[in-house]
Amino acid sequence: MSQGDQAISVVDLHKRFGQLEVLKGISLNAREGDVIAIIGGSGSGKSTFLRCINMLELPTSGSVAIHGETIAMKSDGQGGQMPADRRQVERMRTRLGMVFQSFNLWQHMTVLENVIEAPVHVLGVPKDQAVATAETLLRRVGLYEKRDVYPAFMSGGQQQRAAIARALAIQPLVMLFDEPTSALDPELVGEVLSVIGDLAKERRTMILVTHEMKFARNVASHIVFLHGGRIEEQGPPEAVFDAPRSERLKKFISSVH
Ligand code: ADP
Ligand code: MG
Repeated sequence: MSQGDQAISVVDLHKRFGQLEVLKGISLNAREGDVIAIIGGSGSGKSTFLRCINMLELPTSGSVAIHGETIAMKSDGQGGQMPADRRQVERMRTRLGMVFQSFNLWQHMTVLENVIEAPVHVLGVPKDQAVATAETLLRRVGLYEKRDVYPAFMSGGQQQRAAIARALAIQPLVMLFDEPTSALDPELVGEVLSVIGDLAKERRTMILVTHEMKFARNVASHIVFLHGGRIEEQGPPEAVFDAPRSERLKKFISSVH
C-alpha cells in the first residue's frame, strides 16, 4: 500500500441507541499516512465513531471501508443493520489496532504474552517469530525489561505503552486511539504521547481521539471537530486552531485551553 491510498473510508454513518441518535451522518476518509485527530466535547460521539469503524458498535446506517474493502452489511430486521459476514469483520479487525482509554490488557498474562496473543492465536504466526516481533516492539515503547511482568505491577503509563505494543503486533493498517492518556496521572501522560508521536512521525496511519490539544496540533495532519454527532468543522491544525470558523469550535477551543 503506498502513501495516499485510501486506508479508511466512512460514508454517511449514523448510529442510534434506541431513540437517541448519537451519530448523525459522518463521512471521513483517512489516506495512508494521515494522522487524524478527533476532538470535541464529552458526549459528542467520538468514542462511538471509533467503535463503529471496527464494528464494536454496529452503525445503524452508512458504510465503512478498510483499504477499499467495504464491510458488507445486511438488515437486522429492526431498522438497523448487521454485518453480512462475521468472518469479513474478523479479517477487517486484524487490519485495525485499537488502543482504549483504560488499557484493557489481559491481567493474567505477562506483557510479552499480551503482545503475542493475537499474532499467535488470531493470525497464526509461529510463536518464536511472534516473540521476536514482540521484543522489538517492546524495545520501541521502552518496555523490553518489563516483558515478563504482569500488568498489575506496572504504572498506568507502562500499561498503556504495552497496550500500544500489543495493538502494533498485528501489524495493523490503521491505529485507532480513544483518549489514550485520559485515564493517566498527569506525570505519565508524556511518556505515552511520546510513543504515539513517534508513530505519527513515521506517518503511521492513525485516528486519534484526544483532549490533548497541543499534541493534536503537533502531530495531526487533519483535525476533525465533532459536535452533537456531526462534523462541525475540520481542516489542517493551523486552520482549526488558529482560525476556527464555527462559534462552537471557538468556544470549545477556549474551554480546553
Ligand atoms: P464521547 O466519546 O464523545 O464522549 P460517546 O461516543 O461515548 O461520546 O457517547 C455519545 C453519546 O452516546 C452519549 O450521549 C452517550 O451517553 C451515548 N452512548 C454511548 N454509548 C452508548 C450505549 N452503549 N448505549 C446508549 N447510549 C450510549
Ligand atoms: Mg469517549
